[in-house]
Amino acid sequence: MVNLATGDDSGHEITRLELMQAVERVRDSTAAMQTMLADPDRNHPRPIEEFPLVEPARRRDCQYCPFLELCESELGGDAVTEFMHAGGV
Ligand code: SF4
Repeated sequence: MVNLATGDDSGHEITRLELMQAVERVRDSTAAMQTMLADPDRNHPRPIEEFPLVEPARRRDCQYCPFLELCESELGGDAVTEFMHAGGV
C-alpha cells in the first residue's frame, strides 16, 4: 500500500497460505449465500416467509439493514421513523 501524500510504501507480500485462506473464505461465503436461494442457477431467493424478522430486542438494527424495505410492512409500517422518534439513534 502506498500513501499518496507521503509516498511511503508499506507493501505487504501475500503468502500462498493467505491466498488459499482468502479463497476458502470466498467459497464459504458463496456457499452460505447459496443456501438462501430456492434456485441457485436462476439466483431466485427462498420465499420471504422463510426469513423471519429478528426478535424485537434487536430491531433497532433494522434501520441500518439493506433489507428494511422488504420487512417494513411486517414490522408495522414506518418502523424506522417510529424508532427514531422514540429516541433511537
Ligand atoms: S429489516 Fe433487516 S434486520 Fe430487520 S427484520 Fe428485516 S432483515 Fe432482519
